[in-house]
Amino acid sequence: MTHATAVPTVALHDGIEIPQLGFGVFLVPPEDTREVVEEALGAGYRHIDTAAAYGNERGVGEAIAASGLGREEVFVTTKLWNASQGFDSTLAAFEKSLGRLGMEYVDLYLIHWPVPSRDLYLETWGAFEQIHEEGRARTIGVSNFRIEDLERLEKEAHRRPSVNQIELHPRLQQRELRAWQAEREIATEAWSPLAKGGELLSDTTIGEIAARYGKTPAQVILRWHLQLGNVVIPKSVTPARIRDNIEIFDFELSDGDMQAIERLDSGERTGPDPAVFVEP
Ligand code: NDP
Repeated sequence: MTHATAVPTVALHDGIEIPQLGFGVFLVPPEDTREVVEEALGAGYRHIDTAAAYGNERGVGEAIAASGLGREEVFVTTKLWNASQGFDSTLAAFEKSLGRLGMEYVDLYLIHWPVPSRDLYLETWGAFEQIHEEGRARTIGVSNFRIEDLERLEKEAHRRPSVNQIELHPRLQQRELRAWQAEREIATEAWSPLAKGGELLSDTTIGEIAARYGKTPAQVILRWHLQLGNVVIPKSVTPARIRDNIEIFDFELSDGDMQAIERLDSGERTGPDPAVFVEP
């Protein structure tokens, strides 16, 4: 069995299937992105997560085009940056993303941040619905939305987002938001699933579990996400880590180990708080 067939998919509420493990490219330098994404595709990843703000959509598109894979074999996500929120500006920004990717459609388009203080996300979502109806994004979702933002969409928009991509890892487990989303069939996608590769990887509980399974701490954390049902998109520019992070389908954490990791939640963010983040 190849890696590509070993990665399960999660069915979104609109019937679109998203590979549960993807590859994130935040902070991958634009000039290195093609090579790094080629490495990921070679290792078996078939889901790439980029954004207009990352400045590396072009490299993602080039790697996929050069891979010999059909466009329909790779699930591609990109995101609308905050400064482009609004109806017409969203349509224009989406065109630019497609141009840089060199694609006719994306699989998933996300509003990157709600930016509540600017109050433009409902209007922005209207443009997302149009893009979806035109078939240029197979499915549409949001990122960093809080329950109150999702409730407004629920009340005022035609379409429900299929995904909310949020910061989520053992130190920030987002239980309330995950449960709320599960009730509405909004898939939870975890960004910084390894808490940015920091101190969490040296946690003694994680280390002890990893030693017992003969796995690395990163593999244990990614496996924990999978067993919770999260979609995960770890990032690495290191070939050995890129390969390690997909070797997570040959073991299963026991209930006791899942519970031990549950106890590591401290509510600690590694990134900005969506309630106040406004960076244009
Ligand atoms: P991650 O939690 O994926 O951690 C990435 C860091 O961990 C890198 O420094 C990497 O180092 C290191 N690392 C990766 N694998 C291993 C391993 N096996 N062992 C040890 N260290 C490892 O953080 P990110 O913030 O990159 O999040 C992942 C993706 O989520 C992003 O790339 C992006 O696509 C998305 N994201 C979305 C956001 C949003 O607002 N929607 C915000 C932030 C991220 P190295 O690269 O040097 O190997």
